[in-house]
Amino acid sequence: MSVPTLPLNDGNHVPWIAFGTGTALYQQDATQAVRLAIDNGFTHLDGAQMYNNEETLGAGVVASGKSRSELFITTKLAKLQTGETAKTALQTSLKKLGIAQVDLYLIHVPRQHEGQLKQVWKDMEACKKEGLTKSIGVSNFQPAHLEEILEVATIPPAVNQIELHPYVWKSLQPVIAVHKEHGIITSSFGGLSPLFRAKGGPLDPVIEQIRARLEATRGKPVSDGQVLNKWMQQKGILVVTTSSKAERIREYVDTSNVPELTSEEVDLIEETGSQVHKKFFVSFFA
Ligand code: NDP
Repeated sequence: MSVPTLPLNDGNHVPWIAFGTGTALYQQDATQAVRLAIDNGFTHLDGAQMYNNEETLGAGVVASGKSRSELFITTKLAKLQTGETAKTALQTSLKKLGIAQVDLYLIHVPRQHEGQLKQVWKDMEACKKEGLTKSIGVSNFQPAHLEEILEVATIPPAVNQIELHPYVWKSLQPVIAVHKEHGIITSSFGGLSPLFRAKGGPLDPVIEQIRARLEATRGKPVSDGQVLNKWMQQKGILVVTTSSKAERIREYVDTSNVPELTSEEVDLIEETGSQVHKKFFVSFFA
C-alpha cells in the first residue's frame, strides 16, 4: 500500500505520515523500531541530531532492505557547537545515517539559535543548494521566528513541525495563518496527546462518538488514534507519530482507508478541543 504524499512549496513531495525516533526512542537504539515501522508500511522516518540515535535510524533502514529511493528521511539541526555550521552538522548526520542526502532538514528549536536565526537559515539554504538535503524547514517556530527568517529567505521553509492536537488547536491559529500565507506545510508532533497525555478531557466522548460512526460506516474496527490522525490528514497536516506496537503502526498507516470525517465532526473536534488548553512540550521548546 503506498502512502499518500503532500506537495511541498519547493516542488518536492512528502509522505503525509512519519515514524518518529524521538520521545519514546529518545537516546535509544532505534534499529528494531525503525525496521518494524518500515516493515509495516511507513516510508517516512523522522530523526534528529538531538535524539542521539541517527546511527541506529540508519541501521534500521538498512535492516529493512528498502532502497533509499523508497524512503523519505528527515533529520533536524541541534544547537550549534563551536565552529560548527548547519552544513557541517548535516554532514555529520549524513555520516551517522549512512546516506548521502536527507529529504528534509529542519531547524529543531529556534531558541537554540537566538540572534543567529537569519544566518542559520542562509546556511540551511546552502545545504539544499549543495544537494545535502532535498528540502529545508523548521520546527517549534512561532510567527515571530518565521517572520525573522522570511526577511532573508530566498527559499521559504517547506515545513514547520510543531506540537499540534485539538487541545492546542486554538492557540496555533496565528502560526497556521503564516503557514498558509507562505505555503508552509504544518506538521504535527504529539498529535495523539488527547488519548494518553490528557485522558479524561472533554474530547473523550467526541472521539468515541465519531469512532463509532466511522466504524459503522466502514464495517470494521476504527481506533481512537485513527480518528485524530484522520482529522489531521483531512486538514493537510503532516503527522509525526510513533509506536512500539506493530498493530498500532499498521493502524496509523491505514488511516488513509478510514472514511472521511464530516465537516460537522471536524468542527466538533476543534470546538471541543478549544474548550481547554493543554500543551505538553513546553519547558524545553517554549
Ligand atoms: P504521538 O502523540 O503520536 O504519540 C505516540 C505515542 O502514543 C506512542 O508512544 C504510542 O505508544 C502512544 N499511543 C498511541 N495510541 C495510544 C492509545 N490509544 N493509548 C495510549 N497510548 C497511545 O507522538 P509523540 O509525541 O510520541 O511524538 C512522535 C514523534 O514526533 C517523536 O518520535 C519525534 O520524532 C517527533 N517529535 C518532535 C518534536 C520536535 O520538537 N520537533 C517534539 C516531540 C516529538 P505505544 O508504543 O504503546 O503504541
